[in-house]
Amino acid sequence: MEVDFAQWYTDVVTKADLIDYSSVRGSMIIRPYGYALWENIKNELDDRIKETGHENVYMPLFIPESLLQKEKDHIEGFAPEVAWVTHGGEEELAERWCVRPTSEVLFCEHYKNIIHSYRDLPKLYNQWANVVRWEKTTRPFLRTLEFLWQEGHTCHATDEEAHEETVRMLDVYADVCENVLAIPVVKGQKTDKEKFAGAKYTYTIESLMHDGKALQSGTSHHLGDGFAKAFGIQFTDQEGKLQYVQQTSWGFTTRIIGAMIMVHGDDRGLVIPPKAAPTQLMIVPIAQHKEGVLDYAYGLKETLARIARVDIDASDKKPGWKFNEYEMKGVPLRLEVGPKDMEKQQVVLVRRDTGEKIFVPTDHLEAKITEILDDIQRQLFEKAKELREEKTYVALNHGELKETFAQKTGFVKAMWCGDRSCEDQIKEETGATSRCMPFNQEAVSTECVCCGKEAEKLVYWAKAY
Ligand code: AMP
Ligand code: ZN
Repeated sequence: MEVDFAQWYTDVVTKADLIDYSSVRGSMIIRPYGYALWENIKNELDDRIKETGHENVYMPLFIPESLLQKEKDHIEGFAPEVAWVTHGGEEELAERWCVRPTSEVLFCEHYKNIIHSYRDLPKLYNQWANVVRWEKTTRPFLRTLEFLWQEGHTCHATDEEAHEETVRMLDVYADVCENVLAIPVVKGQKTDKEKFAGAKYTYTIESLMHDGKALQSGTSHHLGDGFAKAFGIQFTDQEGKLQYVQQTSWGFTTRIIGAMIMVHGDDRGLVIPPKAAPTQLMIVPIAQHKEGVLDYAYGLKETLARIARVDIDASDKKPGWKFNEYEMKGVPLRLEVGPKDMEKQQVVLVRRDTGEKIFVPTDHLEAKITEILDDIQRQLFEKAKELREEKTYVALNHGELKETFAQKTGFVKAMWCGDRSCEDQIKEETGATSRCMPFNQEAVSTECVCCGKEAEKLVYWAKAY
């Protein structure tokens, strides 16, 4: 892992049975274990999306070219990444269709039909779907040609309400990252250069991987009334005046699995936080050919299923092989039980995160397992946060910025004047991009780290995936 992080990552995603490759470039087969993980994340997020009042819908996969062209900034931003359908069977289409890279325009066309009065607002829709972006370089989960995601699309009567929605959904993403996946995030606003094509502004959560590179982990956009004007989405307000709606959109993808791997994994493989883990507790019977062991282990599985997602490996493989396998797969907790343990009325629990072995009397088992799983969840978050703090630096001037990026990989906090040219220059000199202007602003100095002019904002800079 320390020697070749990229290779480590590729090995882990395949050896832990998350994905396989196929002849489709840049795309992945998500295998049962990987898909179970995605389903857990999806369910956690979907619950929160519904709790905040949104409804799920489904839009078509294809977008006719003329529809995609309606909002000028949007098409300009997405054009290089769009896959086109030119034929239906043998027949050439009169108009090309793209495979959706995101569905703003489809939602907008629909919203124009269903929104007429202030009584129709807000409209809070979400879709779970796949999208396609023709990425040049790809990496499993982190950047794929086709990926799974949810995209929220909402319409509001006022700018203020749309703003509140943009913040609310960023908070939901941060909650899933921090409390389900144990990934600490920095919340902030993207610079204009990095914002979503067609948005008024973009909010983002940024996380830091084990190797010190950053990852944009979810984005929430205030679209203003740009799309509404392009599509004519208007409503009559309470005074009878015709107004354009204010819109938001927000997306969260399979990329987050890549983040989870790169934040928590270690030399033995995956480490999955309990709240996201398909299997939280794996039972490995010891000397399972001895009388009563398997029955006993299956009995435990049944009782413990009440408090955790439990599985048992009663195959004829050696216990040592099983230990390695479930460590590789990142199962948070292992339970070993054999004839001697049965005699002593105890079991052995082994934590994936620390490797700690804990002997537990069977009559305390349920409470102890719950306690340990909670502790693992908490510890993983704390450890990730500590690493992020360790790898967060401050640069006060141009020299320091270049020096820091030459020697370290991590977040660098530095002031910025707001000029695009400084942002571009920093990218050219250091390879780092502006990750966000954090909501938690502080003034580490008064001058732009690049040009020395008066600074507007603190920015988190980093090399990123
Ligand atoms: P966007 O609609 O461009 O704001 O994208 C929403 C989110 O999708 C971003 O915040 C990224 O985290 C994620 N994302 C963007 N491109 C990809 C990709 N090629 N593969 C996986 N996730 C992606
Ligand atoms: Zn500057």
